[in-house]
Amino acid sequence: MQTFIDIGVNLMHPSFNKDREQVVKQAEEAGVSTLIITGTDASSSVDACAYASLYPEKLYSTAGVHPHDAKTWNDAAEETVRKLAQEDCVLAIGECGLDYNRNFSPPLVQRRCFERQIGLAEELSLPLFVHERDAFADVAALLRANRHNSAVVIHCFTGTAQELEEYLELGCYIGITGWICDERRGRHLLALVKNIPPDRLMLETDAPFLLPRTLSVKVAAGRNEPRFLPHIADFIASHLNKDPQLLVEETHGATCHFFGIDPAAPVHF
Ligand SMILES: [Zn+2]
Repeated sequence: MQTFIDIGVNLMHPSFNKDREQVVKQAEEAGVSTLIITGTDASSSVDACAYASLYPEKLYSTAGVHPHDAKTWNDAAEETVRKLAQEDCVLAIGECGLDYNRNFSPPLVQRRCFERQIGLAEELSLPLFVHERDAFADVAALLRANRHNSAVVIHCFTGTAQELEEYLELGCYIGITGWICDERRGRHLLALVKNIPPDRLMLETDAPFLLPRTLSVKVAAGRNEPRFLPHIADFIASHLNKDPQLLVEETHGATCHFFGIDPAAPVHF
């Protein structure tokens, strides 16, 4: 059976409050056996870790502060993230980065918050889960200046060919979401995805956001779920003219390598 790892699920989002367990179960039934729950600020990172701990080796989490929440970053938040990072379920620092599209936190505050988290990843020898929107130059510059050994994934990559090339040169992994299925704004990614080496490509839903627009099933309230990850994989495979099974194996290998997940570990259902 194909086993998928969804590297970006906002499972602690309130839209999952009523049926979180069901969402995990339905993902499993669709072959998405492993979920990495995204932490977006100190308290959601605590919640993500607590929930992931209920399903060892099946659910994992990240710990960090999203650029939108950068204004909440302080010494206490840093201590929380540092402590969470010691837990077995926490595989990466993030979601962190820069988002100049909406600037919910001032850019200078975002940069400080991101820089501190790059430092934490280096200090703790953990990978970095990076969010970047309309901020390529500053993200690349901060990574160049502050990151030495930590592996980096640019999650939900939506940028240009040039940006992709520079991220790959920096050694980054690339996360692709159902954004690629969006004929209004994501189709440029179809031409770029072939430029991503198979051992650097990872797949994610970013649920409950970014419901793939190419899904044929009707989904209540437009909520994205990790069970739709195979749809994204099939969509990409068909545009790469690649055997979907091969794509799944390659992205699974890259993901296990990046996050330090044992690829041979038994899948717990
Ligand atoms: Zn993001």
